[in-house]
This record gives sequence, structure tokens and C-alpha cells, in this order.
Amino acid sequence: MEYKLIRKKRKTLAIKISLEGEVIVYAPHRASLRSVESLLAEKEEWVRRTRSRILEGLNQERDKVTFLGRKYNMSVIEGGAKKAAIEFDGSEFRIYCREAGDAKGVLYGWYKEKLLKIVTARIGELSSSLGVKPGKIGVRAQKTIWGSCSYENNISINMKLALAPPEIIDYILVHELCHIKHKNHSSDFWLAVESAMPDYKERRRWLKENGYSLLLF
Ligand SMILES: [Zn+2]
Repeated sequence: MEYKLIRKKRKTLAIKISLEGEVIVYAPHRASLRSVESLLAEKEEWVRRTRSRILEGLNQERDKVTFLGRKYNMSVIEGGAKKAAIEFDGSEFRIYCREAGDAKGVLYGWYKEKLLKIVTARIGELSSSLGVKPGKIGVRAQKTIWGSCSYENNISINMKLALAPPEIIDYILVHELCHIKHKNHSSDFWLAVESAMPDYKERRRWLKENGYSLLLF
């Protein structure tokens, strides 16, 4: 098995598969090559499985970043910048990080920050036209729900929506803002959604049919 050995000031051995599918072993300075090889032999099955999963995903969408429903080219620049950063000029993403394996984490933080800005601004506009006063606004990685509105009217939005087209984000925002007045999914609630967004059903259907594809990584 081909791998890259990186010796570091650390106590244990670790295997990491990079975004590009490269097998990297981190080892303490004094670790023997034999201990590295035997760890790899022991974890061979896991390495193979993980690597092929990463490569399959990459082959489909290699070097692409989805943001607000559009796909952009992405390049990862390793070790170039002192601080991890993302440059996005509207047509291409450049992710600067210490090593390629960090790119996901950097992008994750970027998505979260951008989505929070977008939804905060949009909630400001929508809530004044709907005549409601939301509480705190947050963006979180959620597994099963797209958004929620608490009894204190705090609104939480799923981070995956950073990948969705703006009209879909708007539907979730209108939906959650309508929960300020109706804490349920009664017919009054849906009437409120419909009067704010007459084509909400189409947007809701889009989410039902395509929601699974909004994968952060
Ligand atoms: Zn709801």
C-alpha cells in the first residue's frame, strides 16, 4: 500500500485519508517503520473502504463546491497561507489550508458564517413584511430537520441549506417565521405560509425530492 509518512511530535500513530484519497500516516519521531507497516496491515480493510468512498465522492464532484444552488470550481492550496482562509470571487473557490485534509473544516466554517449572514438579512426583510418578531437566529448542522422555531421564537436553520438555491432557503425562512404565530402545522399555519409565498408547494416539493443531495461533504 502506498502511503505518505509524516513524523511529528506526537505520542501515537494515526492514519488519515486526505481529501484526494492519499493515505497519510502520522507517526512519532521515534516510531519504527515496522510499527507503521503493521498498523497499516491491521487497518488495511478500513483504509481501502474509506479511500474508495472518498474517491467515489470525489470523482463525481471532484474539485467542486456547491453554494446557494450553484456549483463552482474549487482549488485547495496547501501550506500557502499562514491562516486557513477561503477566497471566493463569485466564480471560483480557493481554499487555503495547512494540509488538504483541513479543507473540509475550513469550508464548513465558511458555509456556517455565510449562511448565518444570509439568513439574518433575509429574516430581517421577511419578518417585517410578515409582521412578526423573531428571537435569536442560529445556523446548526442538523440531521433531519431544515429549520425550527422554538417557543421563544428563536429560529434555527440547517447548515446544509448553504447548498440550496435561495428560493428554497426563503421557503424554510417563511415556514419558520409563520411558526411564530402558529406553533403547529394546522391549516391556519399553511394558509399563512401560502399567503406569504403562493408557490410554497413547489419549493417544498423541491426540498423533498432534492434534499438528500444537499450533502455538506
Ligand atoms: Zn414546521
